[in-house]
Amino acid sequence: MIPRQAVTVLGATGSIGVSTLDVLARHRDRYSVFALTAHRQWQSLAEQCLEHRPRYAVMGDPGEAQALREVLSLKGSSTEVLQGEEALRYVAGHDETDIVMAAIVGAAGLLPALAAVEGGKKVLLANKEALVMAGGLFTRAVRDHGATLLPIDSEHNAIFQCLQNERADCQAGELAQRGVRRIMLTASGGPFRTRPLSELSQVTPEEACAHPNWSMGQKISVDSATMMNKGLEFIEACWLFNARPEQVEVVVHPQSVIHSLVEYTDGSVLAQMGNPDMRTPIAHALAWPERIESGVASLDLIATARLDFCEPDYQRFPCLSLARQAAETGGTAPALLNAANEIAVAAFLARRIRFDQIALVIERVLERLPVNEPDALDVVQNADLEARTLAQTLIDAL
Ligand code: NAD
Ligand code: MG
Repeated sequence: MIPRQAVTVLGATGSIGVSTLDVLARHRDRYSVFALTAHRQWQSLAEQCLEHRPRYAVMGDPGEAQALREVLSLKGSSTEVLQGEEALRYVAGHDETDIVMAAIVGAAGLLPALAAVEGGKKVLLANKEALVMAGGLFTRAVRDHGATLLPIDSEHNAIFQCLQNERADCQAGELAQRGVRRIMLTASGGPFRTRPLSELSQVTPEEACAHPNWSMGQKISVDSATMMNKGLEFIEACWLFNARPEQVEVVVHPQSVIHSLVEYTDGSVLAQMGNPDMRTPIAHALAWPERIESGVASLDLIATARLDFCEPDYQRFPCLSLARQAAETGGTAPALLNAANEIAVAAFLARRIRFDQIALVIERVLERLPVNEPDALDVVQNADLEARTLAQTLIDAL
């Protein structure tokens, strides 16, 4: 019998975390749960701990950690409750964990994901912001520590699957040497693809979070509505697949059935298709290079009937242009972009700024702050902090 692999799920109570536990629960013979983490919502984490019986649970907030500890001990659970950032790194890099799902949202996920990489784990990366902020340092750490990095973002997982005949590793050589002409990243266009431009200043957080094809956390839902999500994914693709910005193209595909494509030098184009359900990429990465059941229904091509494609509208979605520019500038520009975006999205969700002001805040931060060489983590962290502070000041003045 093959020994079970122990899995840590960082961000277990989020959209990706819940889908991950759904897949894991279908394969208790293959996987055990080593640790589950959440920022707040101790009640959700308590339920998950009682069902999946991890060795550790980590809460962000000390008060909530205490509440979780009390309820678990009352129920006779043997899960040990830890608290804080150090504990996140501890469970992510722990000797007894084999696989780490990095599904914390935003910059907060960087250090725990890096701890998993430094522990040489099989790292399933949903937290795209980690690569956007510190792609160079992150991918170097993957090589130095012999970690295995597998993309969970549906587009990048699709690209990885389309590249797999060539080389079974995200880190393998130059794209051109692998016979690849270009990568085509598909985008749904989000909920505002066809909304009259004049109405975009008035849209609400509820409308922005109502994605036509995917059910996701609030931050990524707003990113999808501004298409910053595709911008972050553009940068993510460059790092994951060793691609130059001109080798990655964004194609709008409203049905979200083709998750991305790879074109080879001979003109062959490979696409990965499936229902828009994150359990497919999660199951793919968990079992890679094998395949396991994910719970996702078969794709009904007849019901899908048509697949449409068009060019992205850069005027409607200025965030996509800003991200492309940041990718071309390089250095700490993507870290500045990411941090300004996190602050602006939070302000939009709190109804402090309008939807169209998200791009404005990011643009001003990028204009005003210097770009440095991100050769050490503290350079990236300083850029992140500076951009957050400036974005907040700009928002307060709006
Ligand atoms: P979510 O908001 O639903 O969940 C986020 C999780 O992170 C929660 O468990 C939360 O408790 C935890 N968390 C939040 N802030 C934290 C902090 N400061 N410290 C520690 N933990 C914290 O988000 P999601 O939609 O599951 O997305 C998670 C990541 O996956 C994001 O980076 C997102 O871009 C990426 N992703 C999500 C989807 C999707 O379908 N939801 C698809 C592709 C990529
Ligand atoms: Mg995606």
